[in-house]
Amino acid sequence: MGERVIPLSPAQIRSFRRALLSWYDQHRRELPWRRDRDPYRIWVSEIMLQQTRVVAVLDHYARFMQRFPTVQVLSAARENSVLAAWSGLGYYHRARRMHQAAKVIVGERGGVFPRSAKEWLDLPGIGRYTAAAIASIAFDEAVAVVDGNVERVLQRLFGDSTGMEATWQRAEEVLDDERPGDFNQAMMELGATVCMPRAPQCLICPANSFCRTRGVEAAKPQPARKRRDVCYGLARRGDSVLLTQRPPGSSLMAGMWELPSLAPEAVNGHVPLLRVRHSITDTDYRVTVYAIPEESRGSGRGERWFTPKQYERLALTGLARKILSKVAG
Ligand code: SF4
Repeated sequence: MGERVIPLSPAQIRSFRRALLSWYDQHRRELPWRRDRDPYRIWVSEIMLQQTRVVAVLDHYARFMQRFPTVQVLSAARENSVLAAWSGLGYYHRARRMHQAAKVIVGERGGVFPRSAKEWLDLPGIGRYTAAAIASIAFDEAVAVVDGNVERVLQRLFGDSTGMEATWQRAEEVLDDERPGDFNQAMMELGATVCMPRAPQCLICPANSFCRTRGVEAAKPQPARKRRDVCYGLARRGDSVLLTQRPPGSSLMAGMWELPSLAPEAVNGHVPLLRVRHSITDTDYRVTVYAIPEESRGSGRGERWFTPKQYERLALTGLARKILSKVAG
C-alpha cells in the first residue's frame, strides 16, 4: 500500500473502527435485506437503493422479492413483468440491466453468484460501488465502498475535499478488514441517519472525537429544482382506460405505458379531473389530468385499452400508476 492519505494514527483508526461498529451494532436500522447474507437479496436491494431513499424502496422491495424470489425466477421472467414490478421506482435502466445480469448468472454461471467485487463488475448494471457493496456485505471481501453518504462523511471527518480516487483510497484505509460488510454499511448508515447533508447530528455522532469539522461548513447549497407543467388525458371505456406506450428509443422510461399526454393549449378552459404533483430526479412536475371522450382516442400508434387487472401488471410509469390509483379505482 502507498502512503497513507488520512490524518489519523493507526491507533486512532482502530479506535474509530471500534466506535463506528459498536454504534452500528446498537443503532442500525432493521431492513429486510439485512436479515441474512443472501447475495440475491443484497444485490436487488443495492440496485434499488441507487439514487433512491430507503423509505421509497421498502414496499417495492417486498413486492419484488415476492414476485421474483430467486435469481432463477427473475431470469425466466419477461422484461415487461420486471418493469411492472419496478414501476414507481424510476431509473428503469436499473431493472433492465439487473434482468440481463440475472440471465447471465443463470445461463452462463449455472446460477452461481460471483463472490469478488472484480467478478461482479463483469455483470450488466454493476459499477464500482455496487460490486464492492455486494462483495463485502454478502461475502466479507475487504473492499471499501464510496457512495454519496460515505463521501460526505469522509470529507467532514478529515475537513477537506479530495478527488474521487483519493476518497476511495481513504475509504480503503479506514475500512475494518474483519467486518468489511458491516463497516461499509455503518459508514453509509452514519451518512444517512447522523451525518446528514443539511443538519449533521454531531452531538450524538460516534465519530465526533475523530472529526475535524464537527458540522462546521457542513451544509452545501442545494441546486435549485426545475418545475414543469404537464397535462394528461384520461379516456375510459367501461372500467378500461386508454394507455399509450413510450417509444422504445426514448431516453427516459423507454417502452413504458402512460396516459396520453395533452398539449396545454388543447385544454384551455376545461375543468380538470385531478391535479397531482410528481418529482423525477431534479424536476418537480405539476400534473393536470382531464377526462377525454372515449371515441377521441384509441386508434393511435402505441395506444391500447387496459382493464385494471391488466394494467396492474403492466410496466406503467410511476406517474401513470399514481394517477390511476387516484382516479380509476
Ligand atoms: Fe458528521 Fe458531525 Fe459526525 Fe463529523 S461529528 S462525522 S460532521 S455528524
